[in-house]
Amino acid sequence: MGFSPIHGGCQCGGVRYTLSAPPAEVMHCHCSMCRKAHGALFASFGAYPADALAIERGGDSLGDFESSPGSHRLFCPSCGCQLFNRVDKWAQNAFVVLGTLDAGESPGHDPARERHIFWDDRVHWYDVADALPKSAGYGDGT
Ligand SMILES: [Zn+2]
Ligand SMILES: [Zn+2]
Repeated sequence: MGFSPIHGGCQCGGVRYTLSAPPAEVMHCHCSMCRKAHGALFASFGAYPADALAIERGGDSLGDFESSPGSHRLFCPSCGCQLFNRVDKWAQNAFVVLGTLDAGESPGHDPARERHIFWDDRVHWYDVADALPKSAGYGDGT
């Protein structure tokens, strides 16, 4: 049946987007680059098909920080909100920062396709007490 579109955007409202298909998976990334970029203990992404992401507003003005070769972190230049990752070698995917979904929205993923990545890089003073799969790097998938 039809997929109900998911809506999100940045903190100031300058960037707005819609997702029109579910993600292949959800990843909670504990790498140091995600922690620094997001100012958070880990960052949560949905791996959506690239053509499922429609940026309705602010797409032309997104900031682009290449945190490692071929990996672009796109953010709102006005409020600093991290919104999307685009990885050149995985161009078929748009990695959407799930914290930017509007209140009440869910990622729309299969709960069996959710996991932690770069687990060995996590901060050791916060206990993530869930039963999701955990891998040192990207693990399998993507
Ligand atoms: Zn903004
Ligand atoms: Zn990361």
